[in-house]
Amino acid sequence: MNFTFVTLFPNLIYPYFEDSILSRAKENKAIRINYINPRDFSLDKHKKTDDYKAGGGAGLLMSAQPLSDALKTVGKEAYFIFPAPAGKSFLQNDAKRLSKKEHIVFVCGRYEGIDERVIETYADEVFSVGDFVLTGGELASLCMCDAISRMVDGVLGNEKSLLEESFEDSLLEAPSFTKPNEYENLTIPSDFLKGNHAIISGLKNRMAYAKTCFHRPDLYKIVKNKRHYYEK
Ligand code: SAM
Repeated sequence: MNFTFVTLFPNLIYPYFEDSILSRAKENKAIRINYINPRDFSLDKHKKTDDYKAGGGAGLLMSAQPLSDALKTVGKEAYFIFPAPAGKSFLQNDAKRLSKKEHIVFVCGRYEGIDERVIETYADEVFSVGDFVLTGGELASLCMCDAISRMVDGVLGNEKSLLEESFEDSLLEAPSFTKPNEYENLTIPSDFLKGNHAIISGLKNRMAYAKTCFHRPDLYKIVKNKRHYYEK
């Protein structure tokens, strides 16, 4: 899977792929990371990439010319994602779906955003990572790239763990515990220690259900109609 980050600040992104799981994924060539800097395409003698908003208004916008010329250099098979507060919410199912693409291009906005004509011309999808405003699209793109990468074959050591993760079947993952069995007078639920996998699985299921109900009533509404969660 190829990822290209179109960004004025590649150094903000680069270190994320230098450690841990995604660094290994890069070494194993399960993912490839490329960068394009729109500044390299600016026709302005000072390599300017921004300008004032037409019609006035606070702040600067990324101009169409450098960004558009940068995007023209990307192969036609690529899938263009624009992070933006105005986009639809990026969800786990999007990560799963997009992990089947061959080449994803994240176009990172800066300043007050991007000239809308570039978005209209190139965007396959526009995603928001939450109802808040970041200074640029780099963090949002990294969030999406990370979530997509974990779904790519060969990236996670144990791909079975994906099956029990939060948002599978709209359910949050059950609380988990590790050694020691007692820590500062708090104990692990005793059923976890008895080695009966059917009982543990039933308990985890009920805890996942309760956790979803507590933390995410919106998901709980969806999941409570799926009767098999009661039956396990
Ligand atoms: N003026 C824009 C608005 O009010 O919608 C905000 C622009 S923001 C300061 C600059 C860039 O950060 C955006 O072009 C986008 O790439 C990125 N960004 C900011 N918040 C984001 C969010 N919640 N989700 C995804 N991208 C975001």
